[in-house]
Amino acid sequence: MTSKKAIVLFSGGLDSTTCLYWALDKGYTCETLTVSYGQRHAREVQAAQQIASKLGVKQHSVALNFPWLSTSSLVGKDQVIPDQSLADITSGQIPSTYVPGRNLIFLSVAASLADAVSADAIVAGPNAIDFSGYPDCTPAFFETVGKAINLGTKRGVQHGLEVLAPLMHLSKTDIVKLGAKLGVPFELTWSCYNGGDTPCGHCDSCKLRARGFAEAGVKDGSVEK
Ligand code: ZN
Repeated sequence: MTSKKAIVLFSGGLDSTTCLYWALDKGYTCETLTVSYGQRHAREVQAAQQIASKLGVKQHSVALNFPWLSTSSLVGKDQVIPDQSLADITSGQIPSTYVPGRNLIFLSVAASLADAVSADAIVAGPNAIDFSGYPDCTPAFFETVGKAINLGTKRGVQHGLEVLAPLMHLSKTDIVKLGAKLGVPFELTWSCYNGGDTPCGHCDSCKLRARGFAEAGVKDGSVEK
């Protein structure tokens, strides 16, 4: 029996790397899809390439040129990445780092690739517990897009194409614990919204990540060299 094939949306961050290791652990033959969309630094994409190369999985990289995405502080270099408290991060407000329709775009690109290579699943790493209130990271959104993909692709109609979000209901602490169990090379992952040699420690992503590692009692090799 040939193993099932999964397209893993892979940014090189903690969550998507844990997703990739999760899918491999489940027996999927994985191909990664990394989307550049003009984010202010290439550090994350470099991390993705490094980890995928280390695993020897097939990589797909695409670059989008959507000028309007610069309305997000994650893209627009004239904007400042917010430095807010953990309470504010998880308050449900949508912060300036929100990228318009990002997961809708990513899932559409992943669906096209999955359809073309006859994949069985798309795996993505949204999380609705410790997150910044992005509307495209919710269970309802993913379930609905999953239905649309199954109605609107050849693979979906003829075979079925699962959209899996294994981290959706996990806290960041649980994601770190799962990653540790699966052998995720944390030191190679990059979550910080800012570029540079070391994570900034001040953006939403750094703060959520730091709390997850602290509560899980796991050392974050990307911060503590
Ligand atoms: Zn940061």
